[in-house]
Amino acid sequence: MDSQLPLLAIVVPCYNEEAVLEETTKELTRIMEQLVQEKKISRNSMILYVDDGSKDSTWAIIERKTMDNPFVQGLKLSRNFGHQGALIAGMETADSFADCVITIDADLQDDVQAIYAFIDKYHQGYDLVYGVRNKRETDTFFKRNTALAFYKLMGKMGVHLVPNHADYRLMSKRVLDEFVKYQEENIFIRGIVPLLGFKSAKVYYDRKERFAGESKYPLKKMISFAIDGITSFSIVPIKLVTCIGFFIVMLGALVAAYSLIVWLLNHTISGWTSLMLSIWIIGGMQLIAIGVIGEYIGKIFKETKNRPRYTIERNTTMNIKEKEPMTHG
Ligand code: UDP
Ligand code: MG
Repeated sequence: MDSQLPLLAIVVPCYNEEAVLEETTKELTRIMEQLVQEKKISRNSMILYVDDGSKDSTWAIIERKTMDNPFVQGLKLSRNFGHQGALIAGMETADSFADCVITIDADLQDDVQAIYAFIDKYHQGYDLVYGVRNKRETDTFFKRNTALAFYKLMGKMGVHLVPNHADYRLMSKRVLDEFVKYQEENIFIRGIVPLLGFKSAKVYYDRKERFAGESKYPLKKMISFAIDGITSFSIVPIKLVTCIGFFIVMLGALVAAYSLIVWLLNHTISGWTSLMLSIWIIGGMQLIAIGVIGEYIGKIFKETKNRPRYTIERNTTMNIKEKEPMTHG
């Protein structure tokens, strides 16, 4: 009976989270117990902590919990790989035994009550459930506005994100199977997930403040995260170089006309005209040339990602037996 219930793995990346693990485990265990009771998930479901090379006692706590809490399992990375790396490690590990995976931060800023809604959506047949924040009141003015600007900028660059959705989501086994095919080194998870397709739903929740410990995402990490997001998805910056090149050549033509007129009227010292022409026209042409090379590099960049070209959701030819090749003559 129990074997028919889905096995849920809650993947929790942890970097120096000794201050929150106790409370986090308590909260998540309560939810697990409730879901098992309601016969919505298998009792083999788990909380999978991923220790991302913490320098404090995070791993010691996780290890102890695996012994006295039947839900808790742990994964220890050999060094700090960053939030995204820790998430992927957890998701790929869970992919081999879980039917669905929920990812959530260790500080439980994302409302854990939404997990009930996630699981309900899963049972209704959704393969992908996005946790979306209602409002951003608990964020500082700065973080709220930089985040907003980030979504806008990404949209302009052709990367479509689900606004106000971070990495709090549920993925079914088959979505996860597709996700692990994206083998690119610089992976930006929340950019990839919407590319996967499948039937998805959103669950809205309020984001709380961190109840203990401090943010592991200082401004420096936020900026590098944003740059990573753009450069691993978009070649718009390269195209921009080409555009600027054309613009400067056009401007150069005007400057050239002006310089020639002044030269014809004999108002110049020798050498000025040729200098003006080379600076403007050649400068612009160089930019165009760089842009053209950039276009090719952009193509190479896309090729090296080796992304799947399509994802199949259903296939009615599955039952047709593969044919022997016809022999002629
Ligand atoms: N985290 C991680 N590796 C890192 C930085 C952060 O695994 O190098 C984890 C961290 O333990 C937490 C989650 O990523 O579970 C989000 O971090 P945090 O709450 O500090 O970020 P914020 O909510 O302030 O953006
Ligand atoms: Mg946080």
